[in-house]
Amino acid sequence: MLDQIRIILVGTTHTGNIGSVARAMKTMGLSQLYLVAPKELPDGQAYALSAGASDILANAKVFDTLQQAITDCPLVIGSSARSRTLSWPMLEPRECGVQAVKEAVTHPVALVFGRESSGLTNEELQLCNYHVCIPANPEYSSLNLAMAVQIVTYEVRMAYLQTQTAAAASDDVAYPTNEQLASFYQHLEDTLNETGFIIKQHPGVVMTKLKRLFTRARPEEAEYNILRGILTSVQRYGANAKGDKE
Ligand code: SAH
Repeated sequence: MLDQIRIILVGTTHTGNIGSVARAMKTMGLSQLYLVAPKELPDGQAYALSAGASDILANAKVFDTLQQAITDCPLVIGSSARSRTLSWPMLEPRECGVQAVKEAVTHPVALVFGRESSGLTNEELQLCNYHVCIPANPEYSSLNLAMAVQIVTYEVRMAYLQTQTAAAASDDVAYPTNEQLASFYQHLEDTLNETGFIIKQHPGVVMTKLKRLFTRARPEEAEYNILRGILTSVQRYGANAKGDKE
């Protein structure tokens, strides 16, 4: 899914920045780097700063115009430090991550970053569906290109991990139903009555406290089955002990 999200750098001047962007991308699990009219193609400086992300530089695609780099992208988000006269739908970096990950399930998504000296032109910004602005210090809001890429791709990764955790939680874990829980509490109360534990205490308060404990722990179905098994074994043990006495 993350392979559907491409980072596009427009008109980059310093090849070192291209290398740092590759590194930033790889740390966040992204691999698709598109370069639009870079002043120079990745050189030794770029490879030095990419550290272990030279594969991303080697596979980078180069285009003459932004339009060519986004032809197949239904979602294009342009990153800009400045609020322009042009008012456009805006996303916070966090919303940008969520939107990109959501749409990457079905189609390619482009995150576009501008020139070190002058950012993206108004024409380029108008090719974007949304703009994202990192809410930096208003008196000094322009980040280094690779650092802006790092922040936006971090949000992409956070949104991606969120979908993974949600999927894992819904796939693997079954929880007991309310009916099963009610029957478990009854079983627990009966057992504690039989062992004599509840008679010594105030029954209402103990059961309420135990219910609160199990609600907080939120046992999974498998754990709930173990608890039921324990109660049954206690009851069986009690019955046998009683039989031995008689
Ligand atoms: N001087 C330029 C900024 C260039 S920084 C200007 O004023 O537009 C290079 C690129 O990094 C920008 O084009 C933008 O894509 C990104 N960037 C830097 N700071 C940013 C911020 N605060 N929010 C969003 N993108 C930012």
